[in-house]
Amino acid sequence: MLDAKIPSGPLSEKWDKHRFELKLVNPANKRKYTIIVVGTGLAGGSAAASLAELGYYVKNFCIQDSPRRAHSIAAQGGINAAKNYQNDGDSIWRLFYDTIKGGDFRAREANVYRLAQVSNHIIDHCVAQGVPFAREYGGLLANRSFGGAQVSRTFYARGQTGQQLLLGAYGSLMRQVAAGRVTMFPRRQMQELVVINGQARGIVVRNLITGEIESHAADAVVLCTGGYANVFYLSTNAMASNVSAIFRAYKKGAFFANPCYTQIHPTCIPVHGTYQSKLTLMSESLRNDGRVWVPKTPGDNRPPSQIPESERDYYLERKYPSFGNLVPRDVASRNAKAQCDMAKGVGETSFAVYLDFADAIKRDGKDVIEQKYGNLFQMYEKITAENPYEAPMMIYPASHYVMGGLWVDYNLMSNLPGLFVLGEANFSDHGANRLGASALMQGLADGYFVIPYTIGGYLVGMDRTKVTTDHPAFKEATHYVNERTHKLLSINGKRTVDDFHRELGHIMWEYCGMSRNDEGLLKARKLIHALREEFWENALVPGSSEDFNQSLERSGRVADFLEFAELMVIDAFERKESCGGHFNEAYQTEEHEARRDDENFCHVAAWEYKGDDKEPELHKEPLVFENVELTQRSYK
Ligand SMILES: Cc1cc2nc3c(=O)[nH]c(=O)nc-3n(C[C@H](O)[C@H](O)[C@H](O)COP(=O)(O)OP(=O)(O)OC[C@H]3O[C@@H](n4cnc5c(N)ncnc54)[C@H](O)[C@@H]3O)c2cc1C
Repeated sequence: MLDAKIPSGPLSEKWDKHRFELKLVNPANKRKYTIIVVGTGLAGGSAAASLAELGYYVKNFCIQDSPRRAHSIAAQGGINAAKNYQNDGDSIWRLFYDTIKGGDFRAREANVYRLAQVSNHIIDHCVAQGVPFAREYGGLLANRSFGGAQVSRTFYARGQTGQQLLLGAYGSLMRQVAAGRVTMFPRRQMQELVVINGQARGIVVRNLITGEIESHAADAVVLCTGGYANVFYLSTNAMASNVSAIFRAYKKGAFFANPCYTQIHPTCIPVHGTYQSKLTLMSESLRNDGRVWVPKTPGDNRPPSQIPESERDYYLERKYPSFGNLVPRDVASRNAKAQCDMAKGVGETSFAVYLDFADAIKRDGKDVIEQKYGNLFQMYEKITAENPYEAPMMIYPASHYVMGGLWVDYNLMSNLPGLFVLGEANFSDHGANRLGASALMQGLADGYFVIPYTIGGYLVGMDRTKVTTDHPAFKEATHYVNERTHKLLSINGKRTVDDFHRELGHIMWEYCGMSRNDEGLLKARKLIHALREEFWENALVPGSSEDFNQSLERSGRVADFLEFAELMVIDAFERKESCGGHFNEAYQTEEHEARRDDENFCHVAAWEYKGDDKEPELHKEPLVFENVELTQRSYK
């Protein structure tokens, strides 16, 4: 059942060969097809603009008031590409290899190789759009280093790379809106996927301003709805980031792949209060120049300036001399936790380590550091009231990104014909751990360079029986949405939806976070179950369904998180190995690194929904490595 449709032939020729073999839609026929794109972040914005540019008619939906406010705008550090401008030994093969290794050998070779190939086209495309990437004095685009790589291949626009790339995609999108080939539907939340004769043929959305439930039919549906890291409640994601769209699709038959692969980012501003609702990322780019350390002596609570050099432990540089502070995120996060667990954590809560720029400022001067990271330093100072030019930053890992998502084949189509999934919403090319600056690369590769080819191959062969929103499947989906809304509004309990979400976040962080064990996972399942039952009896969702009601909006998302969290735990329990971001304490090397079990777990775990009171069914897509050798990851 799980055919990834990976083309045959040598790795480097698969994509070209596939593009040639894909059937084409005649240009004059393209305008007869309607495509729904849900999401306007880098994946959705680039897909909607490119599909419309090709001639398709596109309906584009998002939660925010403007496509420009999608969560992608928050991306700070940069985007990878194998241009080798630095002449430091980079190549498509090296980017491919670093990404496969970074993901702990749990991604598909063919997808990752294609990603590395098109990375260079992305940079050219964005430069042509006018994206203001940083430049060297001579005019060439500048690069910096990111974790898990020993070359500098990250293109950036100060600490605002996501915003600048999104403005580029938005410009292209607006051109198509003006041309009448894209219709924008902002302030809509997708509630249901509509499947007719086994094909995805539309969606049902709630208009978040008027409360109206709307139906939209199409020939294909492309979900680009981002990641679900907010299942942990506290995360670096935008408040509106959610699992709902892909979880609704899962309940309609789309398989959910590797839900337990979540990324905890090592450099975030530590939690500082019970009522905090958001965590702030300090970009990984800071590890280019910042040095991570803790006091050598447990419990040493002297201010950092009073701890002499000889009493500091630069533990990443000590343990991983080759990569030092630029080890991948999973490794850096686990090490920070280990230091804090040994009572070497710093700051008020002792759940923090230092990220120190003193040496870099001494070496390069404050001006140079300010030029590279000025806005990040300013953001840090605004939040913590401490000046990072004078005292080291304090950082701690936080939930940040998800490698899991809906299962897709090489064409980015789910197992449901006509349902495509792009960007962070799919189970992606990152395996069990994503390297920094690779999410923007993947989202834009999917939207600008993959879907424009692969969707045509599907459309020419699909069953095009005319479908309108009068079809009973739309009526049924609308009825279900209305019932669920009514149910949420009539619980009339005593506990706020945010309170439930916060408790769920605690459970997930404690038992399914940076490290996991079987006992904790079993406990988490019970706790989630009980919390979900309480939610449907005691949640307080005030207001009505007929107007702007953010409590109602949030309650639907939290209800989905409460169901999805259990799937995450089930997947984590099932995977009896450690790999990348999934660290089961029972499977570690003597040096406390993740120990994979390639014999039994070298597969993608894709889960099929079987009913609310039934266990989901596991399908396995074996991962075949023909071009790289599976080794124990080492960054020493
Ligand atoms: C603080 C931060 C910094 C980062 N920095 C980097 C970086 O430097 N480099 C890098 O490579 N990656 C970075 N990342 C990761 C990267 O930003 C994201 O993975 C990427 O932007 C996701 O893009 P996307 O298009 O898949 O989804 P998003 O940008 O999240 O867009 C999702 C879209 O879907 C819409 N949507 C969601 N649900 C629904 C629904 N139910 N109905 C209707 N619409 C819906 C939203 O409105 C939005 O338009 C960072 C992430 C964070 C949190």
